Amino acid sequence: MTAQVTGEEAHVTSYVPVTVGGTALVEDDRASMEVRSPATGELVARCAVAEERDVDAAIAAAQGEVATLTGMGPRQRGKLLFAVADRLEAEAEPIASDLSAEQGKPLTEARGEVAVAVEMWRDAAELVRHLTDELLPSDVPDREIRVSRRPHGVLAVITPWNFPATIPTEYLAAGLAAGNAIVWKPSELTPVTAEHLRRCIAEAGFPPASVNVVPGPGGSVGATLTSHPGIDAVGFTGSPQTGHAVARAAAGRPQLLELGGNNATIVLEDVDVEAAAEQLHPACFANAGQICSSTERIIVRRELHDDLVDALAAVTDRIRLGAPDDPETTMGPLNNRPTLEKVERHLADATDHGARIVTGGRRAEGFPTELYFEPTVVTGLTPQMLAFREETFGPVAFVTACDDDEQAVELANDHDLGLISGVMTDDPQRGRRLAERIEAGIVNVGDPATVWQPHTPFGGASGRRSGVGRLGGRYTIEALTQLRTIVTPRPSG
Ligand code: NDP
Repeated sequence: MTAQVTGEEAHVTSYVPVTVGGTALVEDDRASMEVRSPATGELVARCAVAEERDVDAAIAAAQGEVATLTGMGPRQRGKLLFAVADRLEAEAEPIASDLSAEQGKPLTEARGEVAVAVEMWRDAAELVRHLTDELLPSDVPDREIRVSRRPHGVLAVITPWNFPATIPTEYLAAGLAAGNAIVWKPSELTPVTAEHLRRCIAEAGFPPASVNVVPGPGGSVGATLTSHPGIDAVGFTGSPQTGHAVARAAAGRPQLLELGGNNATIVLEDVDVEAAAEQLHPACFANAGQICSSTERIIVRRELHDDLVDALAAVTDRIRLGAPDDPETTMGPLNNRPTLEKVERHLADATDHGARIVTGGRRAEGFPTELYFEPTVVTGLTPQMLAFREETFGPVAFVTACDDDEQAVELANDHDLGLISGVMTDDPQRGRRLAERIEAGIVNVGDPATVWQPHTPFGGASGRRSGVGRLGGRYTIEALTQLRTIVTPRPSG
């Protein structure tokens, strides 16, 4: 359970401890950090800062639990995964409320996120209960070749703040399903949701050291964890810069790295412009644009450009910026100041280089924190601008015009990330031809970038800087296991 804070900090909702082997370590001398609501600035929790000795202890505890988890077998682990889903579902409302308070997304979006996490636990449970070995034919007649999936062992997991329930679940559910024991460093900005997840896993009956949590800053705790000789593999979601540091720290060990995107949606001239704007609305503004799969760049055929910009401005006007717990709110504040500053830097750079702000473009006034940002539409984006080259991660629809399909593909590919893309057209064959040439892990035809079904493979295209490997349903289980081939004399008779 989340340890309750007493004495002079009694106003604080909760304290998120270091948890090793199922035990919360709450020594008085351990440093802690404040977790503040991006919506109100109020303190919502305190979070322990794990020390090097905690990371050592967590890894040692996890190492001791791998044999227990493997020994349970996939069907038993599957049962426990279903139990985690049931607990999360039963507590969905308070968890969504805490998630919304520390992350800043509207409560409706937080509820949706928890519901998706519940489905992900069930999906992992179903998948692992049907995991089978493979028998390969042998060139040598008296030999049997059996290929099986084994856990990596101790899995280090590091996760960001934008989806504090679903992104960790991707690694925790599939990682446990496969029989790994986990040491997890959640984002220092959303540790309360992490503590809920950890508790649900423990209460479902997983052995105590199945998931160990070492909260704290990435630069210290995360770096100690990913460079530790005791880990067997890493699962990481975050920015390309951090992801590349993690790749170096854990060099030589299996890695699943889900990094940033700068995703293009191409809009062809045959679409209904109002309908396209409706589809682009959540693609650009859900979670205030803080989604790795958000549409970051809209590349529209020039003949449709002005109409689309007007339609986007009209749907943007409908966004109700406000407190996450207000039922009328459709967009909350940004989560943190560095994200706000990056959005402002990209907008200033774009306008300095000739882009035009059609609507929005500023911090919104009259709110308790500076993190509320007006939903924004900008046109005139060019490849020279920062917003074209880097992920903005904010509530901005950047638009650029193109003259033909060839130029649309060139612009979509003219950057070094490659997570997801969209081609909006009424002609599926034409869309498919473009999709084949766009360098991204997923290309949606008829839908914008953002749309992803969580059981399908998600990850960066080869040769780009968006990561390594694939998340999603059975693909995550494959990434979080290793293949073991055992060749034995074939039983006679
Ligand atoms: P960061 O890369 O800043 O942080 C991600 C995690 O890494 C945090 O837990 C952070 O800790 C930790 N970390 C920081 N430095 C290190 C280090 N040296 N070694 C190990 N861990 C470290 O990303 P954000 O949290 O800002 O998340 C936003 C980014 O995540 C965006 O680029 C977004 O595109 C990407 N993302 C990718 C997704 C995908 O599926 N491809 C999905 C969602 C987001 P701390 O607590 O200190 O921040």
